[in-house]
Amino acid sequence: MEFFNEVIGLFSDFANPKKRVFLGYLGISLLIAFAWLIFYHKTNIRGAIARIFDRKIWFSGSAQTDYKIFLINRVFTGFISPLLLTQVAIATAIYMALVRSDLTLWGVYSDVSIGVVVGMFSVAMFVADDFTKYLMHRWMHKWPILWPIHKVHHAAETMTPMTVYRVHPLEGVLYATRSVMAQGPVIAVFYYFFGDSVNLYTIVGVNVIVFVFHVTGSNLRHSHVDIKYPAWIEHVFISPAQHQIHHSIAEEHYDKNFGAALAIWDWMFGSLHVSEGEADLEFGLTENEAHPSSDLYTAYIGPLKEMARVTASFWHRITLVVRRPRGTATARPQRAEGSSSS
Ligand SMILES: [Zn+2]
Ligand SMILES: [Zn+2]
Repeated sequence: MEFFNEVIGLFSDFANPKKRVFLGYLGISLLIAFAWLIFYHKTNIRGAIARIFDRKIWFSGSAQTDYKIFLINRVFTGFISPLLLTQVAIATAIYMALVRSDLTLWGVYSDVSIGVVVGMFSVAMFVADDFTKYLMHRWMHKWPILWPIHKVHHAAETMTPMTVYRVHPLEGVLYATRSVMAQGPVIAVFYYFFGDSVNLYTIVGVNVIVFVFHVTGSNLRHSHVDIKYPAWIEHVFISPAQHQIHHSIAEEHYDKNFGAALAIWDWMFGSLHVSEGEADLEFGLTENEAHPSSDLYTAYIGPLKEMARVTASFWHRITLVVRRPRGTATARPQRAEGSSSS
């Protein structure tokens, strides 16, 4: 019975409305995909069904690796999550610091109506979360020490909604830490200014905006259904097709569309690429990248080895600079006196 419960626990995300792969959201995504293929691509019903349930996508080697990584990470998360900081811990620490500070603003806005506070809180949480997701994702691509772990996600050559789980456990830890660091301060500040007119534990539930994101087809970001928005909307919200562009191996798509839900960060920081005119994308990594796709050992251990290599070469360069004799433009290796070996 215990074992049975454990197995059910592995799949609990499908029954959790806070998770993207909640069965209700998957069902809605299926309908959206169907409608898109019929009305936008003018596919007939049989063709649309064949496209959505394409065995070559759902049972490809890449997809099978996604499923295995999903299961392994679920077990791993069970061990690691009790060790991670919680939003409540961060929020409590910041809240206590604010209360002890000289600011005597505790609860100054406590008479603001609950509806307004909940609305502002939801927007603040969403924006803080989405912006830090953008930053972290950008760093994952730009920093050589982080790219090896994020590469596991990008090694997917076919995409299904399960590809969202195809991440190295270290990436999961980094994102979870980011989440509490972003949301904890928002909780603390709201609780401080609006007092206990709002019970925060009831708000830190399903965020309405995130709910809207999921019912409008967030699952289709990792799919082969290229749902596009008009270009002006794609400057504000990331469409599924834009995230597919992020996964494309075409050179003009490198380092584009890091955004999670909002596209405005990409727009502001010059990494936006709208989906207009894009078709038949190829997903995965370019040939000159070490490929953590096919076997699990390479997916889990490969990034650690690569990170160790990047760190070693970084330290090597630092030591070269530090040891460089003063006043010389170029460092020339100096042999120690009496030394005969190199
Ligand atoms: Zn990425
Ligand atoms: Zn992705």
